[in-house]
Amino acid sequence: DRLDELTVDLDLAHVFHSWSAQGGGRTPFVLAGGLGTRVWDHSGTTFLDFSSQLVNLNIGHQHPAVVRAIVEQAGLLATVAPATANLTRGQAASRIVARAPDGFHKVFFTNGGADANENAIRLARLHTGRDKILSTYRSYHGNTGAAIVATGDWRRVPNEFARGHAHFFGPYLYRSDFWATTPEQECERALRHLERVIQSEGPSGIAAVLLETIPGTAGVLLPPPGYLPGVRALCDRYGILLILDEVMAGFGRTGSWLALDLYDVVPDLITFAKGVNSGYVPAGGVIIPDSIANDFDTTVFPGGLTYSGHPLAMAAIVATLDAMEAEGIVDNAARIGRDVLAPGLAELAERHPIIGEVRGVGVFWALELVADRATREPVGAGVMAKIKAGLLARGLLPFIAENRIHVVPPCVVTDAEAAEALAIYDEVLSLP
Ligand code: PLP
Repeated sequence: DRLDELTVDLDLAHVFHSWSAQGGGRTPFVLAGGLGTRVWDHSGTTFLDFSSQLVNLNIGHQHPAVVRAIVEQAGLLATVAPATANLTRGQAASRIVARAPDGFHKVFFTNGGADANENAIRLARLHTGRDKILSTYRSYHGNTGAAIVATGDWRRVPNEFARGHAHFFGPYLYRSDFWATTPEQECERALRHLERVIQSEGPSGIAAVLLETIPGTAGVLLPPPGYLPGVRALCDRYGILLILDEVMAGFGRTGSWLALDLYDVVPDLITFAKGVNSGYVPAGGVIIPDSIANDFDTTVFPGGLTYSGHPLAMAAIVATLDAMEAEGIVDNAARIGRDVLAPGLAELAERHPIIGEVRGVGVFWALELVADRATREPVGAGVMAKIKAGLLARGLLPFIAENRIHVVPPCVVTDAEAAEALAIYDEVLSLP
């Protein structure tokens, strides 16, 4: 199709892309439209979107109520200064705090997840008068000053210009850094390791431990029972704040409103973005409890953004959260996870020795692919490229990270779409 070709030509000529080499050999993937769990290019080739784009599209493509709310807000007031009081912004904030634990009553809005973490780190430093931030090696927290240095994965290394960060290993039983063979051992040893890192980094200088409630990009690493409460207890022992990053895991992805609802833990600060309005208009933020918000009753908060609480983003949040509630979309994610993806992916693992481990909850799953089940050696990039091409050729848009397929459809995915996707994964995993 002519428009698909034009899209590729313009992209190659003028668009500078994230996290990639820009030169030849790149073949951009074109999308022109979507609805629910389906997307298509200009020539009408359709795909099941089992990536939710960047795992942000919890409500699915083009939800009519969200699109309508954005259009209506654009007609009323398309932008407004952050210091102004605006009804849509207040409604968005009140709907967000309604899903947070007791005691959280304020939201500081940002443009996305990275600056949400940036401001949570700032709040933790100001609240404690301390400096250091501890986070895990297997994490992604965003691509700005402190957030990228808090990030653990390879993307931190060329960007280490912020100071005051140290890293530790979180629990990951399948590739245990602690020689553990049971979840109990992994939990106990990971907590012991964290305490040693806290002691070694100087507890009185540590402002916060920053964790993804469930590390997402790093592989949907569900923490073992007891780990997050154990981190909470360590933080309390040393006067350190706990920041939970719910950017990817929050607002429905796990089949609960927040991922922290699945664990017996209350953090000191919560960051969010992505699912809060499915990225229809960029937005993120920090949910702040009274105990920290009150610090700034008479003291100036030294932070701000022109588009903090942008009305189009706020309208999208209000409509998204209302539609998720009214249509039982979070429950659907839980049900699909429990009744369709859990058994379906387990069955795939029985049939395909290339699957080393299946883990997840709700619509947040990873298939870890291995060359050898005994040694757990990850499959190489060549195999993953072949799998990706195979999935696309059969009409499934996948989310691939390292040696993993992340099975991350929108929360609105139907039983039939999940079954269709399972059949495609099944066929493609037979190829290598
Ligand atoms: N935190 C987590 C857990 C994420 O997954 C991401 C993005 O993938 C971010 C933060 C950064 O969000 P953004 O890309 O909106 O800045």
